[in-house]
Amino acid sequence: MTEIKSLLPETLQAQLKEMGEPAFRTGQIFSWLHKGVTSFEEMTNLPAALRSSLAQKYTLTVPEIVRCQESRLDGTRKYLWRLADGNCIESVFMRYHHGNTVCLSSQAGCRMGCVFCASAPMGKVRDLTPGEMLDQILFTIRDTGEPVSNLVLMGIGEPLDNYENVLTFLHLVNHAGGLAVGMRHIYLSTCGLVAGIDKLASERLQLTLSVSLHAPDDETRSRIMPANRSRGVDELFRKCQEYFQRTGRRISFEYAMIDGVNDTADHARLLSRRARDCGAHVNLIPLNHVEERRFRPSTQGHMKAFMKILDENGVNYTVRRTLGSDVDASCGQLRRKMQKTESQD
Ligand code: SAH
Repeated sequence: MTEIKSLLPETLQAQLKEMGEPAFRTGQIFSWLHKGVTSFEEMTNLPAALRSSLAQKYTLTVPEIVRCQESRLDGTRKYLWRLADGNCIESVFMRYHHGNTVCLSSQAGCRMGCVFCASAPMGKVRDLTPGEMLDQILFTIRDTGEPVSNLVLMGIGEPLDNYENVLTFLHLVNHAGGLAVGMRHIYLSTCGLVAGIDKLASERLQLTLSVSLHAPDDETRSRIMPANRSRGVDELFRKCQEYFQRTGRRISFEYAMIDGVNDTADHARLLSRRARDCGAHVNLIPLNHVEERRFRPSTQGHMKAFMKILDENGVNYTVRRTLGSDVDASCGQLRRKMQKTESQD
């Protein structure tokens, strides 16, 4: 059976036409789907016969909330969802002054192996479908009763390792007949898969590409991010420059400060040069401590010295505010905890 929420409106329209349905049904059904209905029966403006033939032909995904933790500090909500096949994924709902934001997962697990990340140890189980990505937003809206205006693809998984599904998801979530989230309100974060960055540049979307850089040189980067080993930083920076030239959209470099690993003055100087060459904005993130991973966040002193060098070099940077630190809100942590509990049972 086909998962109906993963279909682009034009595909849905073609399939409905084959079923002998008039064109206006597409908009009606699309709109219900994007309101997060849990059954075809809820589509009350459709004839009963159509509702039952849809139910026979299509599956309607409804993730189950396994756990929802709300931060007492800032109201951030961390969701652990169970998908139809039993796999669990995470997303986070955050309230920022510029609007409510959902950080969503693109895969169940991840195969990129970054050594500081909670999602790495279990590897990738499977890609998420476009509908399963959409569900994380739809059912957050239902659960919170609040609108969502911004999205970040920074949860579990590597979006550019699930390229086609992510692209379909972007078109779905951006569609005027659904949630209509503006591309400029979407951040897509990648560990730097150059082929994917290249492909994405050719789509000329107005979203913001975020590259999880974490080190400006091959020696450090390949040590903490194995995905760097195949192509290296020179090619990555070249692709970032090209991306900026082709799309006119400024890239952002994510940089998690890890004590004694990527936080020296040399790193700061090289990062400054690379960021300037690419016209990139730098986002400094204090490393989130992950149980069982041996890395520690940089000290305040090292962070200050690092920022001073960025300042001296005129680099555009911000220090990311940490939300939801009391609810394991960095993605991968809750799923990891649950898998550990299950394996102890
Ligand atoms: N695979 C994508 C998106 C998922 S990770 C990517 O690599 O960008 C989302 C972000 O969290 C990435 O920037 C990732 O490097 C970062 N991250 C992972 N573990 C972290 C930790 N322990 N502390 C701080 N940031 C972390």
